[in-house]
Amino acid sequence: MNNFSYVRAADIDGALRLAAQPGAAFIAGGTNLVDLIKGGIAQPRVLVDITRIAALGQIQESAHGAVRIGALAPNSDLAQHPLIVSRYPLLSQALLSGASAQLRNMATVGGNLLQRTRCYYFYDAGFEHCNKRRPGSGCGAREGYNRIHAVLGGSDQCIAVNPSDMCVALAALDAVVEVRSVRGTHRIPITEFHRLPGDTPQRDTNLGVGELITAVELPPSRYAPHSHYLKLRDRASYAFALVSVAVGLEMDGEHVAAAGLALGGVAPKPWRLVEFETALRGRRLAEVDLAALATAALADAEPLHYNRFKPELARRALVRAVRVAAGLEES
Ligand code: SF4
Repeated sequence: MNNFSYVRAADIDGALRLAAQPGAAFIAGGTNLVDLIKGGIAQPRVLVDITRIAALGQIQESAHGAVRIGALAPNSDLAQHPLIVSRYPLLSQALLSGASAQLRNMATVGGNLLQRTRCYYFYDAGFEHCNKRRPGSGCGAREGYNRIHAVLGGSDQCIAVNPSDMCVALAALDAVVEVRSVRGTHRIPITEFHRLPGDTPQRDTNLGVGELITAVELPPSRYAPHSHYLKLRDRASYAFALVSVAVGLEMDGEHVAAAGLALGGVAPKPWRLVEFETALRGRRLAEVDLAALATAALADAEPLHYNRFKPELARRALVRAVRVAAGLEES
């Protein structure tokens, strides 16, 4: 662990000024960052504590029926908030399926967006070959134990998956991430917030240096009566997803008026299924060949030695999650 200095920001502008120092990093709940620092994987020179910035902790209705979630909202508060439970139960389910109650009390929305992969090779600072930790050093997982790794969207450089449950639900719900910097505020659709590894696996997101996540906005949604988060993992709690599915359906009788679908546990970012959604729209659900759509959604999967089970697991999970969301099957 490296030595670092610690400063506490009183407001957003102060936090941005402090973050302009070389090697600065924001810290809030610290549920991932502290582990990374202890392991020598993250080596900040200055930690800027943003936990006292009250403006970042609010969850409230904003214009036109949208809901704005402050970046410091704890995952536990968000999961139980009446606006989320009533309008976005998909997000509530996803949050409650992640981590433990103690971690959810500490972990924030902003931190959840930024949590790093759980690839074993990434967390072992003594292991030489990890392009995400040491660019150009190789990828130990490609020829190693790759059971939890990506089957979609990976590259020769990295096949790590994004571990967040929350982000899979946010992808299905068309969330937008609000970001502040000294240059002003801008908004990034959740599907463009995380990056595929390509030749730069060390960069997980499109957040710039010194930029601060201030909020996540959820647009108005009609998915609440017909949504489901299905998480498949090695044990019933406190485990990351091998495969997860977030489904929101807007039903017009037996027909699908609109749909939001995303897969988790299979790619370096939440994997939005736009073609699947388009194929559902306007159709009577009972007449849709869900298995065929799920097969098409996984057509580009490239499983490796230890994760050959994932495409089939994802196909079955997709069919089941859509049927449960529609009320055709018990959860
Ligand atoms: Fe590192 Fe990515 Fe390979 Fe894991 S999958 S060893 S994080 S480069």
